[in-house]
Amino acid sequence: MPKFLKPEVNNANETFWEGLKKEKFIIQKCNACGDVFFPPRIICPECLSNDLQYIESKGQGTLYAFTEIRGRAPGVKTPFVVGLIELDEKPGRFLSRIDAPYESLKIGERMKVKYVHEKNFSVHTFIP
Ligand SMILES: [Zn+2]
Repeated sequence: MPKFLKPEVNNANETFWEGLKKEKFIIQKCNACGDVFFPPRIICPECLSNDLQYIESKGQGTLYAFTEIRGRAPGVKTPFVVGLIELDEKPGRFLSRIDAPYESLKIGERMKVKYVHEKNFSVHTFIP
């Protein structure tokens, strides 16, 4: 069983997934209202404008919550840890794999992105 599933790439998220291959964590900023957001979208979640730009996140943030997936998960090896990450740019919290033992983690802990390069794709995890 693989550790990671290949991401589903589409028009909205292609720039993000390509960025991971170059070890860049790309988020978006709305040119109309200034909102910064992630995951990728084709319109601003705040004002619905499609005048958007891509910006590079520093890939650093805070662990807001976490859990360990111990049962079966379709297509991937368990157990693994997932957590809600709040990046310093505040694009909204999102779920991510965490590459650290569950027992070692603490809510509020500083986290940084770790890039994982598989054969045909790249993904991200976060580490303390
Ligand atoms: Zn906007």
